Amino acid sequence: MSIKKVIGAGVSAAIGAPLAVCAARAMSCKKELPDKEPAVKWTKEEEQLYAEKLSAMVQIPTISKKEDEPYEDFVTFQQKLAELFPRVFETFEVHDVNGNLLRRWKGSDPSKNGILFMGHQDVVPVDQAGWTKDPFSGAIEDGCVWGRGSMDCKSTVFCELQAMEELLEQGFEPKQDIWFSASRNEENSGGGAETAVNYLKSTGVKLDLVMDEGGAIVSGLFPGLAAPVAGIGVLEKGFTNVKFTAKSAGGHASTPPRNSPLIRLSKFMCEVDKKLPFKAEMVTPMPEMFDCITPYLGFPLRFVTANRWLFNGLLTKALVAISGQTRAFVQSTAAFTMAQGSSAPNVLPDEASVICNIRPSVQQNAEQTVAVLKKIADKYDIETEVLFTRDASKTSPVDSAEFRYLTKCLADCIPDCVATPYLMTGGTDSRRFEPVCENVLRFTPTRLTREQIAAMHAANENVSVSAVAEGVKIYKYLMEHRK
Ligand SMILES: [Zn+2]
Repeated sequence: MSIKKVIGAGVSAAIGAPLAVCAARAMSCKKELPDKEPAVKWTKEEEQLYAEKLSAMVQIPTISKKEDEPYEDFVTFQQKLAELFPRVFETFEVHDVNGNLLRRWKGSDPSKNGILFMGHQDVVPVDQAGWTKDPFSGAIEDGCVWGRGSMDCKSTVFCELQAMEELLEQGFEPKQDIWFSASRNEENSGGGAETAVNYLKSTGVKLDLVMDEGGAIVSGLFPGLAAPVAGIGVLEKGFTNVKFTAKSAGGHASTPPRNSPLIRLSKFMCEVDKKLPFKAEMVTPMPEMFDCITPYLGFPLRFVTANRWLFNGLLTKALVAISGQTRAFVQSTAAFTMAQGSSAPNVLPDEASVICNIRPSVQQNAEQTVAVLKKIADKYDIETEVLFTRDASKTSPVDSAEFRYLTKCLADCIPDCVATPYLMTGGTDSRRFEPVCENVLRFTPTRLTREQIAAMHAANENVSVSAVAEGVKIYKYLMEHRK
């Protein structure tokens, strides 16, 4: 055998052996979703009834208010809820504070911890361009309910309350307490949900499960994955605002010095944008998410994700590079959102500033993330001032009985979907419940298209009537089948 052939064989063995192992792993982990009947059903009449009830909720413009502002729209909204869900509003104990709802459906077994279903009553403003329907019409057209809050988050609140209403109607008695909570200022990070948590803490209530808005059932999330994915949020990133200020002696714009404040800020921002300087790492729930979806992926992607022992570094780098969305899964992010210079076109600023909105990760907490940026800012003689800061939430365990119960219910109710834990890049009220509950799961069991997700906090928000009906029945199934 020539030396060339020996080298060739050696090289191909070195490459070929792992390749063969990788291919075998990718082939053997492939699975098909079961072809079985869903455990939940509903009628066209129910769809119509649900659409009308949700529409009535959308028609009341509950735009977020500060804690101390009058909130008549919310009073009207709650009167409407009492009309739409009479059994819930007659049966449940009332523990509301200042327009924030906290209600309790007493269970028959006081030795059991309770479970809590939540959402929020408020919606974001409607001043975005592009609305083709009145944002508060609650129009029922093209198989959808349209308007601000139809998805975020009145559909969640509707599905939860409707499920409870139907269970009361059929005489169901829960073993454990079932709580319902909805603040009126989630969208402006108000403390409404805190009042509910304070009550629970002060009375020693412990909860087995908190379910809030968050993930949904979405198709087309991963290339080569045809099945819809139910993303159950087990963690949400933090939220930090930092002001970066550059100073100089100012002067006349006709004789500009070099490296004036805006130039230094620009150089700083360019460096952050180019380097993406934060630690990128795959931590829970990312490995678990890949474990859940890998068996159903198309071969090329499955080849990589089934062999993370070999490709983990490569996959992490790819997630950083693909898009802002995928990057946010593996590292802290920094978005420069506001800027200020001088007050006139011909005046050099003696002080210029930018505001940066940071979403700290678990990999690098808020303090560490800000330190990374400060180090770069220092190079350009820029001052760093933290205006507001909050770290990422705790991570709810993905191997808990509660997580398994939810995924089992989803497998029964929507057998054609893949359930997985996932990381939420946005915030919800549910993080506040950490002191009274270990299992905070952010998920509404409704099907959304990617267009519908894009319309959240934007124009033409809508939700499908059939998705709402399915959501009601899944919540009902979840509450009814607990042991
Ligand atoms: Zn929301």
